[in-house]
Amino acid sequence: MSKNKKLTTAAGRPYYENEDSMTVGRRGPILLQDIYLQEKLAHFNRERIPERVVHAKGTGAFGTFKVTNDITKYTKAKLFNKVGNECRVFVRFSTVGGEKGSADTERDPRGFAVKFYTEDGNWDLAGNNTPVFFIKDPKKFPDFVHTQKRDPKTNLKSSTMMWDYFSLNPESLHQVMILFSDRGTPDGYRKMNGYGSHTFSMINDKEERVWVKFHFKTLQGNKTLTAEEANILKAKDPDYAQRDLVEAISKGNFPKWALKIQVMTNEQAEKFKWNPFDVTKVWSHSEFPLIDVGIMELNEIPANYFADVEQAAFEPSNIVDGIGLSPDKLLQGRIFAYPDAHRYRLGVNYNQIPVNRPINEVNNHQRDGFMNVDGNGKDSPNYFPNSFDDIKADKKYKELASVLDSNIADTFDRNENDDDFYTQPGDLYRKVMTDTERKNTLNNIISSMSGISGPRSNEIIQRQLMHFYKVDKSLAEDIAKGLKVDFKFTD
Ligand code: NDP
Repeated sequence: MSKNKKLTTAAGRPYYENEDSMTVGRRGPILLQDIYLQEKLAHFNRERIPERVVHAKGTGAFGTFKVTNDITKYTKAKLFNKVGNECRVFVRFSTVGGEKGSADTERDPRGFAVKFYTEDGNWDLAGNNTPVFFIKDPKKFPDFVHTQKRDPKTNLKSSTMMWDYFSLNPESLHQVMILFSDRGTPDGYRKMNGYGSHTFSMINDKEERVWVKFHFKTLQGNKTLTAEEANILKAKDPDYAQRDLVEAISKGNFPKWALKIQVMTNEQAEKFKWNPFDVTKVWSHSEFPLIDVGIMELNEIPANYFADVEQAAFEPSNIVDGIGLSPDKLLQGRIFAYPDAHRYRLGVNYNQIPVNRPINEVNNHQRDGFMNVDGNGKDSPNYFPNSFDDIKADKKYKELASVLDSNIADTFDRNENDDDFYTQPGDLYRKVMTDTERKNTLNNIISSMSGISGPRSNEIIQRQLMHFYKVDKSLAEDIAKGLKVDFKFTD
């Protein structure tokens, strides 16, 4: 740090005193004309910006992404046009339901949001450490999130609210099974996978489209905590995951993930057993094998947490040429909700904040608004068309028409398997989990459901047990036993 710096006001006026306020006599009162005192107190009062409603507690790092495999047959995205291409990334990890000061080892999905700074603008993959989500329609999002937050009367977290909602919204089952497995308490952020979760698309230079899912596989090895370990850490080190990331990177132990994709053609989408745009379902790896894309390494902790992590703004609407959206309803809702949240938290010019600023030139006729700090287009025209600037909309960036895709989505909406909330969680429980994972999942569910209370508790428990029964009979029987409740199993 450089020495001999003069204290100044925010306006740059060197100031003579930083601790003792200006007074009439030695004992006071204080004079209003101590402008540095006023500025210091007033700025302090305004230090907090609105906390994110979800994903409030997080940590982040910069790094690099390097393309290791040729996927040009699927995408014309510039980033992927050559093996060896590299770009800078910023990643923010987070818990979801807790407040900014909550513990890192709470049972919760983890946010896994990646911003790729590409030549064609920012590409954001704002995903989680789970391949699926609790709901498939954005209209349900505020209701669902309320059940993960605090009871409106007691201001306490409520198992009753949570299981009431889960039991009335069985499409949550797949995510619930993952959440209550030990994957719901990952051992820090380095040792977990990330998933784009939604179905996206890729478009190649022949204007052919495929549907795509993104997976970041941790190269640190997947490691989770048991409920007991996670609970101990909540008290011992509430910032466990943040500390783990910061310390590893500071020691030069840079975490890495392999980015892989699953690809589905339109023909495969039409025949797929489930709606391929349903975010509560996965595409089986055996049917849609993972294809290598590249390696992401995180190697730089931001110099200032607030500047880069607190002000980071990810949005699924940030896609680049060669990568597209899909009819996935939750994705469509997030295209609106994320930029809207940023405009509220950070102001309409949030893309001018350095961590959000693209590396390529920004050219348009949008001007003014709070905190405009990039020169505001200087003296160039703020209207279009005009006779002065040379900003042209280039038709080559037009996204492939999606009428057909909507038809596909409609067809699959009417698919009889759309209400099959049970097969995939059942596969996970029976075929993927080890005996220990099954035992821990069962105990974690019992422990959480034991917290259901109040006059409707039996009704909620019975309803949820029926859903678990459809996932796996023994699972429901074992939960009922653990909760010491009678449950009539009916096929
Ligand atoms: P696979 O056996 O090919 O893959 C199973 C996947 O499950 C692996 O990616 C594994 O991650 C992951 N996994 C293991 N334990 C858990 C857990 N407790 N919670 C969440 N994920 C876990 O199977 P399929 O592709 O046929 O899918 C079977 C089931 O696996 C699905 O119903 C789904 O629940 C789950 N799954 C599937 C994914 C997919 O995209 N197909 C992705 C993640 C989960 P890892 O390789 O890191 O050990």
